Amino acid sequence: MDMPSSHISGDQDETATDDGSRGFFGKLGARMGRQRSEPVTANLHTRDALLLLQNYEESGRGWFWATDAEGRITYITDAVARLMGRSSGELLGKAFTDLFLPVDSHGERQRTLPFLMTKQSKFDELPLRSAFEGDDRWWAVSGRPHLDSAGNLAGWRGSGSDITAQRRSAEDASRLALYDSLTGLANRFHISKKLDTTLAAFSQQQRSCAIMLLDLDRFKQVNDTLGHPAGDALLRQVAQRLLKIFGDKEMVSRLGGDEFQIILPDLEDRGKLGDMAADIIGSLSQPYSVEGSRCIIGASVGVAIAPFDGQTSDDLIRNADLALYAAKGNGRGRFRFYSSDLHQAAEDRRALEEDLRDALARGEMELSYQPVVQSKSNMVTGVEALIRWTHPERGVISPAVFIPIAEEANLIWPLGEWVLRKACEDAARWPGDLRVAVNVSPIQFANEDLPKIVANALATTGLPADRLELEITESVFLGDSAETALMFKALKSLGVRLALDDFGTGYSSLGYLQSAPFDKIKIDQSFVRGATVPGSRNGAIIAAIVALAEALEMETTAEGIESLDQLDLIRTLNVSHVQGYVYSKPVGHQLLIEHAEAGSWTIKPSGPAKQRNDRFQMFRKVGAIHDNHRYNVVIRNLSTTGAFIEGILDVPVGTRFVIDFGEGQLATATVRRSMKHQQGIEFEQTMVSDGNGGLCTRHRVSPYLIAAATQQATSQLALPSFTTTNDWKAA
Ligand code: C2E
Ligand code: MG
Ligand code: MG
Repeated sequence: MDMPSSHISGDQDETATDDGSRGFFGKLGARMGRQRSEPVTANLHTRDALLLLQNYEESGRGWFWATDAEGRITYITDAVARLMGRSSGELLGKAFTDLFLPVDSHGERQRTLPFLMTKQSKFDELPLRSAFEGDDRWWAVSGRPHLDSAGNLAGWRGSGSDITAQRRSAEDASRLALYDSLTGLANRFHISKKLDTTLAAFSQQQRSCAIMLLDLDRFKQVNDTLGHPAGDALLRQVAQRLLKIFGDKEMVSRLGGDEFQIILPDLEDRGKLGDMAADIIGSLSQPYSVEGSRCIIGASVGVAIAPFDGQTSDDLIRNADLALYAAKGNGRGRFRFYSSDLHQAAEDRRALEEDLRDALARGEMELSYQPVVQSKSNMVTGVEALIRWTHPERGVISPAVFIPIAEEANLIWPLGEWVLRKACEDAARWPGDLRVAVNVSPIQFANEDLPKIVANALATTGLPADRLELEITESVFLGDSAETALMFKALKSLGVRLALDDFGTGYSSLGYLQSAPFDKIKIDQSFVRGATVPGSRNGAIIAAIVALAEALEMETTAEGIESLDQLDLIRTLNVSHVQGYVYSKPVGHQLLIEHAEAGSWTIKPSGPAKQRNDRFQMFRKVGAIHDNHRYNVVIRNLSTTGAFIEGILDVPVGTRFVIDFGEGQLATATVRRSMKHQQGIEFEQTMVSDGNGGLCTRHRVSPYLIAAATQQATSQLALPSFTTTNDWKAA
């Protein structure tokens, strides 16, 4: 029988009197041990009703209660008392209102039960939460006052039912609507609402707000190799790491898949944002332990900042997305700030992908060979094959640019196979026994056909297997899958050599060196460069790597050595081989043959004595503002602290300029050196990395300021005022 509690609590009251001798409370009164003046004179009809009600109580669907005029319990269904952790006897005499919490779970006040009872108003289905510890049930409670014959309040009667399940599912539904069920982070819907409201409020208050879009690198491979449950577990750990960095669960969200978004209110300093992005990437690139397997992924981050890069959430997200795309295109594990030229870059990339499809067939690809030199003897022991693409319109395009595109567009396999065959073919023709190293993309490495292709290249060209070295990057150690081990085994059994490329970038771990059968470790250029910086620990780490490599009978190669001081350091650290401009840039096949034919090939190192502070050679048109004049100048050379500009004649040393890099990037600078049309200038505030190997200003002039300035029709743009000097003419 399904009897709605509101009905039960309803209109039988008319027949009830306070002695309880009639109606169902009569019987209940007896159970409560009240003294009855008269026996229950139940006719068949009321007895039936009583039974029905008793059944109803016992079914657990609903319960009844009664109080005296003061609201003290005179009856309560035993079953519900037990649910509250008491017996009905224990509850008798207690205030009925004490059974429930005055405030609900969301902190909003109830239409309070005490209030309603004081006013003697009836109530229906009032949702109330149990006040008893350990009992988090919700009850819908109804009640009616009943009066004695003189019309005075005699007490209350009513009913209740358990609505915990409905309450929970409603709460779950609202939580699900706002939070990602896998990670517990805010979901796409929630964060986009949040971003909308934040941006709306902030634009009123002229505040800034950054967003980061984050995408995991190689997550798909984990999912594919370790399975979806492992992928889910990994995403949860990623969420934990993000929360550890940002703390605020509301501001970090999972948009879906392996994409995350972070809102950073009141942040526009690109120095700080860049550091933060680097922290995220560093943290997420640490190894994970997932279901007993170790795995490693990376992350790329795109950053856009309101109001500079967009004032609506749509614009901001689109631009952060573009920055993320560019970061990924730059070789992953990077961050990138949005800048307007990314729109063009994205276009270019699409066009490049199209052109890449036919590049092989059109004969636009070539191999270049860079000598690998024994550091102590200066003797060339081998070369690395490096692919070169000469685009019919754009000229030579770096493999650092097009290899990631090829990987993404599924073109790496034919390209890689071509490189392998061509390198073997060339090497087989060299006099002597120079080795040739070929780069193998992780995507090729994951293809079970690779050993067959390698064997085939060796067989058709006749190159002895031990003259071929395959260069593999650390990213193949995603999840210590059995397949990786099998691939190593299959390749080793062909007799080829294996080298670990780019060691020191990303998530280097010495652990897998012991288990993987490498013949060589190539220490990355960035790592070696870092070692010459005073206070760097890289030198000590390189020494450790060398010691380990020697113990495991592996060779070591330092990559990208350009200056003599680096070469000295490398020799001191006992790195066995060097590959870098200090010996030779990559050379064409013809030149290589000439050297090889001349017999044993040694190269005398040459280069700058010291590595220069990273200056970016460039040709970038910017504005130099002085005394409300804007001169067009060209930046030829830029570092974090200063630049060389060209375009104005004879500027006195000490003159202050504002350099306008565009997009609100203004940098105050002072002329330190002046030679006719060239000036060396020093920035007042250092530039910061733009995440793309370039530099940008920390802060930008906000569009609010520009709007305000335009409105006042002044040309001041909040620039400092300058000393007036002679009348320069633009060169
Ligand atoms: P990598 O395998 O680490 O190759 C070394 C890179 O460092 C080459 O750049 C080389 O020209 C450059 N390099 C060598 N010495 C110096 C130096 O002293 N100073 C500087 N600044 N650079 C130096 P490259 O040829 O542009 O190749 C870039 C990357 O593209 C390679 O890094 C490799 O990961 C990838 N790559 C090149 N060819 C192939 C290929 O055939 N297949 C695949 N899958 N990847 C390739
Ligand atoms: Mg390489
Ligand atoms: Mg390398």
